[in-house]
Amino acid sequence: MRRTLIAGNWKMNGSIQSITELMNGIKAGLNEVTNADLAVCPPAVYLMKVRGLIDEANIALGSQNVCDQEAGAYTGELAPSMLQEAGCQYAIIGHSERRSLYAETDELVAQRYAMAVKSGITPILCIGETLDERETGVTEDVVSRQLDAVINEQGVAALGQGVIAYEPVWAIGTGKTATPEQAQAVHAFIRQKLSALDAAVAEEVQILYGGSMNAGNAAELLAQPDIDGGLIGGASLKPADFLAIAKSA
Ligand code: PEP
Repeated sequence: MRRTLIAGNWKMNGSIQSITELMNGIKAGLNEVTNADLAVCPPAVYLMKVRGLIDEANIALGSQNVCDQEAGAYTGELAPSMLQEAGCQYAIIGHSERRSLYAETDELVAQRYAMAVKSGITPILCIGETLDERETGVTEDVVSRQLDAVINEQGVAALGQGVIAYEPVWAIGTGKTATPEQAQAVHAFIRQKLSALDAAVAEEVQILYGGSMNAGNAAELLAQPDIDGGLIGGASLKPADFLAIAKSA
């Protein structure tokens, strides 16, 4: 039975004051979340601070990326060992903003994924099509290609050691959510593709939906049989909204 994961991607937002308020707000409502695991992914500079704010609460910590190398001359990057020391259980890999704004290729994303797995950090692999790709009918080709990059580098078993986040690029930060049917169709496609390679991996892997998920649309999305949680951007910055999404699981 797959558990539901609700992960907040804070992106490049926050200050010491606002993240303290956010974490205190989430912790205050945590006892009402019964059906979902929670994770928060703050900007790297706040990881240690958020680790302290989590304290004993049942909230996992994640980073927004991880380097494909262990250590050395990689200015601006984060070594997996550093993320571990900061208490990270998860690392978001291949977010569409990293792919489109910082030119991260499928191959680099696969190498970052491999390093996370090797280091015992659970990667949250983001995949998804642009609006243009959806409109030209190549959504399945795109998510397939993005998954194949990891499968070719690591084998399908590696996907069983991570989490997949299907995030249609046109739905991220736009207020335009995929309908539950649209999202379910792609999630089912992903699971079928994996099933052809390894039925156990396909059955176990959590596939999150991401893209303008909010308190109003979460219940319907999370009710879909192949949607195992959400990667939440904007709504994860407001404790009431993040908790409402988690409670609707
Ligand atoms: C994201 O950045 O992963 C995301 C899903 O953002 P938003 O919820 O704001 O669309």
